[in-house]
Order: sequence, then structure tokens, then C-alpha cells
Amino acid sequence: IFITLEGPDGMGKTSVLKALLPKLTHISQRPILETREPGGSKIAEEIRHILLDVNNTQMDDRTEALLFAAARRQHMAEVVEPALAADQIVFSDRFVDSSVAYQGAGHEVGEQAVYNLNLFATKGLLPDLTLLLDGPVEVGLQRIQKYRQNQNDRLDQETLAFHERVRASYLRLAAKYPQRIVVIDATQTLSDVVSACQSQLIQHFPE
Ligand code: C5P
Ligand code: MG
Repeated sequence: IFITLEGPDGMGKTSVLKALLPKLTHISQRPILETREPGGSKIAEEIRHILLDVNNTQMDDRTEALLFAAARRQHMAEVVEPALAADQIVFSDRFVDSSVAYQGAGHEVGEQAVYNLNLFATKGLLPDLTLLLDGPVEVGLQRIQKYRQNQNDRLDQETLAFHERVRASYLRLAAKYPQRIVVIDATQTLSDVVSACQSQLIQHFPE
């Protein structure tokens, strides 16, 4: 079982994942592998470093899309594919939908082009279920303002308009793939968001 968590910046993906994993007792007879993107293997972490480096101001938007796809391929080959083959549950913080939303729509490289590029990277593999944490962009950016000020990350320098395109793209994906992508209202309290995620998991993967 392959599950991904997605959403615009500041929707609480990381906190939700941390609270959610211990509660997955109904499907966790199998080992659960938690991963994050971009990264999750030595080569992919090296690519992540290039992507996040604030000194790489000259990076072209398509180069960025290709690097995310390259990191993803490596992460698939080294981590996700072997884990799924061993019948583990893989839970990934971000995946293909992030690239479609951030590079495809945010940077306007083209959603379909980025989607196709990523199907090459994953050999066509998509998650069984994607939990999309959604909420107003201003709420998310406000939540992470402090964190962003202290952080020197090339990917954290984008405008409000960029993040609006990201959110709109995620919602388009959810409308296009309603079987795979479930939208969760991320303006609720953390514990309500976690409960909503948990009930989706129970519904989709009944024991
Ligand atoms: O939220 P998270 O910590 O996973 O994301 C790290 C940074 O990478 C965020 O600033 C996010 O906007 C950015 N990102 C991106 N394109 C992706 C995935 C993440 O610009 N495909
Ligand atoms: Mg971030």
C-alpha cells in the first residue's frame, strides 16, 4: 500500500504524519515505511541539496522539474519499489502531485508535461491513496512565517501568487482523480485533521 500526503506550504503535513503514523494500528500489522521528498536516499539527498541551495539563483524552472523527477526516480528505485515489493506500507510526505502543483503550475512549466515526466520517473506508479491537506494559502504562509524567516531555502522564496497557483493545481488534481485523492480541510485543529485522515485510511483499507 502506497499512501502520500500532499498540500500547499504550512498545511501541517509533517505534524499530521507524525501524529497519524502511531494510530495506524488497523493496517500496521505490516511494517510502515515513512519517507519524505525530495530525498530519502543518498543520491536523492544530494539532489535535494542542489534544489534547496539559495546560491543556485540561476536555476532554470525546467531544470528544477527535472531534478525533482531525478530525485524521485532514485528514491523509487532504492526505497519505495523494494518496500512495496516486500509488502510494506509506504507513507510519503510529498510525491508526484507536488511536482505538478509546484513546478507545473507554480513555476508554470506545464501541469501535463510535469505529470508525464513524473510518470517516466515512477514507471507509471501512482499512490493508492493521497491525502491532500487543503486550506487558504494565507493561513499556511502565516503558520510557517517564523520558520521561513529563519530558513535559507531556495524553494521558500516564492510569492503569494505562486502559492495560489499551487493550491489551485492541487484542487484540479483532486477533481481529476477523485478515486485517488481525498481533500482534507486543514484549517481544522491538528487532532481533527488527524482523525479525518485516519477515517479515510480505515475507509480505503478496511482490514
Ligand atoms: O513542505 P516541505 O517541507 O515538504 O517542502 C519543502 C519546500 O520545498 C517547500 O518550500 C515547498 O514549497 C518546496 N517544494 C517545491 N516543489 C516540490 C516540492 C516541494 O518547491 N515539488
Ligand atoms: Mg516548507
